[in-house]
Amino acid sequence: MDNTKIIVFQDSAVKINVSQVIKGINRKVSFLNISSGKGKLQINADEVSSPSTHNAIRKQLTKDTEKADILILFTNKKYDNNYFWEADGNIIIVSLYGWQWLTKLSRNNGAAYLICDILMDLYSLGSTHSDNTGCINDFMQDKTNIDTGMRCSFVCANCSSHLSKKQNKILNDIKKILDDICLSSRQGMDICEYWDLGTKSLFDAFICYNSQDKTRITKLKNRLKKAGIKTWFDEDQLPPGRTWQNILEEQISSIRTAVVFVGQNGIGPWQRLEVKAFLQEFVGRGCPVIPVILPNCKQVPELPIFLRQMTWVDFRKKKPNPFEHLLWGITGKKH
Ligand SMILES: [Zn+2]
Repeated sequence: MDNTKIIVFQDSAVKINVSQVIKGINRKVSFLNISSGKGKLQINADEVSSPSTHNAIRKQLTKDTEKADILILFTNKKYDNNYFWEADGNIIIVSLYGWQWLTKLSRNNGAAYLICDILMDLYSLGSTHSDNTGCINDFMQDKTNIDTGMRCSFVCANCSSHLSKKQNKILNDIKKILDDICLSSRQGMDICEYWDLGTKSLFDAFICYNSQDKTRITKLKNRLKKAGIKTWFDEDQLPPGRTWQNILEEQISSIRTAVVFVGQNGIGPWQRLEVKAFLQEFVGRGCPVIPVILPNCKQVPELPIFLRQMTWVDFRKKKPNPFEHLLWGITGKKH
């Protein structure tokens, strides 16, 4: 169940930006290895029919792609039974036929949504029902429901209950994609553009520190600013009367790294539960969390398990230059 390998293809007629959709999905999920297939597959029949079309596609696949657990092919051709998608073995063909009559939303939103729908099925997260709740598992008998489905992008309470711990973890990741589909769709926005806005990050680094080290941190933060790093620092970013948790929750997806400073005041800030949760979210999204030891730190605290593989930046040492080391960690570029 872990790290299921999925390769997504499209035929030449369907207009979706597969690589961007997948890039966006990859940023949200940790249990999948999803990539786009090279080359375009071709459906030679007029209509898609299971299993004959699936079999024909299987023949077009190279050995490379046979290594995948699941292969998804998006097409504009119609299913003979008017379905959105059907699976045969490890091949799933998704039809976006007549998309323009179903919704004004982008086919990219549809691709992301239908991939979520496939994942719900793949991991047995709830089961198909038919009662117009807007839940992603609610059977889309009338295909126009997909428009409402994308704008709702949610999983009903029934479908979210009785899941194993592992399934819950997977569902949480899928919900992150669904949240983005919902937010972009409600604005009539293409999900790829929406994700693009998110990666044009507002902030390069979330600064996490023990308030007793404030003076030193403020100096370091100013140095980072001079080096062109946009920092998320509570004092600069918090309007009066609002808690940092709420604000950060809104902005966390637009921050690319987190830097955790540890000084002489010992206990690491990650030991505060809310900070730990945020850091975990960074790690979950594949964003670096950089632990930094300040010059006055006497005892280096033990890192929580989820941060153990991260490399420390140590300001007690002169070499390698800790500030440059930190910049490298934040920007990903060696200075
Ligand atoms: Zn449901």
